Amino acid sequence: SGQSASTHPYWSDHVGDLAPYTPGEQPRVEGLLKLNTNEHPYGPSPRALEAIRAAAGDALRLYPDYDSVALRQAVAALHGIDPAQVFPGNGSDEVLAHIFDGLFRKAGRVLLMPDISYSFYKTYCRLYRIDCELIPLAEDFSIRAADYADHGGPLAGIIFANPNAPTGMEMSQADIESILRAHPDIPVVVDEAYVDFGARSAVPLLARYPNLLLVRTLSKSRALAGMRVGYALGSAELVEGLRRIKDSFNSYPLDRLAQAAAVAAIEDREHFEQGLRAVIQARDDLVRSLAALGFEVLPSRANFVFARHPAHDAARLAAALREQRILVRYFKMPRIEQFLRISVGTPADCERLCNVLADILGAH
Ligand code: PMP
Repeated sequence: SGQSASTHPYWSDHVGDLAPYTPGEQPRVEGLLKLNTNEHPYGPSPRALEAIRAAAGDALRLYPDYDSVALRQAVAALHGIDPAQVFPGNGSDEVLAHIFDGLFRKAGRVLLMPDISYSFYKTYCRLYRIDCELIPLAEDFSIRAADYADHGGPLAGIIFANPNAPTGMEMSQADIESILRAHPDIPVVVDEAYVDFGARSAVPLLARYPNLLLVRTLSKSRALAGMRVGYALGSAELVEGLRRIKDSFNSYPLDRLAQAAAVAAIEDREHFEQGLRAVIQARDDLVRSLAALGFEVLPSRANFVFARHPAHDAARLAAALREQRILVRYFKMPRIEQFLRISVGTPADCERLCNVLADILGAH
């Protein structure tokens, strides 16, 4: 509202300087097709819903398990690691907040990250006053590992998402390893929010690289965005550091319903795999349909696609889709301002999207 930080009577300069994260729209009206925030098109495991119902009783007068022991055990069993290597949080956004706050603020050192990636990373740098260096993506929009491995530093850490967001593109295991090998003395954080949709996880590298930290979420591949559950995986030393940060805060890892739901969702492997197969198939079909409409689509290993049309302005396309009650994401950022990020829906959702797009394109 035009008020500059230094003249505002209540805020500190620091608050005035913040540029808060802008989330994708969560509409408050019914009937919109939401393809804008990468939610799962199908519901969570029925076993998770049952677990929530069972947990929603008198026991809610009691505080939840502060250490999320059952959840950490379920996560550890899922990934074949020790529960002491699991750090849960209220969504991976909170896990990331503790990582930035606790690990990345080092005087005279910079945090490396891609210039185009999950935009909360930049927000946390401002909030926690972390110096960061943004590394441009390569010409083909991939993350070039050598830019990180060969960086002379001094570095506070490295973070990137794999697959990256909003491009959906995957970095190879060998490339990730080249970064880990080059910087054994700083935390290297790989945000695997979308890894289940066909990319290769770096979990096997945990045994060999104590500086590696992986961030996971149950919001995407386990269809529990409304529950807020995420976690980090790393060496016991890194996880211990994160626990100290969290325990110096008035924060409980997860409420009773979330812990119960997460354990049940993780244990229902069949529902999980079935959901993945459906989304991956729908994604591959959507890529073909968009290409047939003339879109250039980046190779996606996520539950969304990133696409641009050589003849149509992305902001206009997003607005025209919005008029037809379809929400997609559009980022007003250099280099990607001609792209739409479209979450993969059900086959019927994708068909509706493509039909509406065909009408919009034809009408121009
Ligand atoms: N990381 C990435 C790359 C994401 O896209 C998102 C979702 N917007 C998150 C983390 C956060 O997910 P959540 O807090 O729901 O776990």
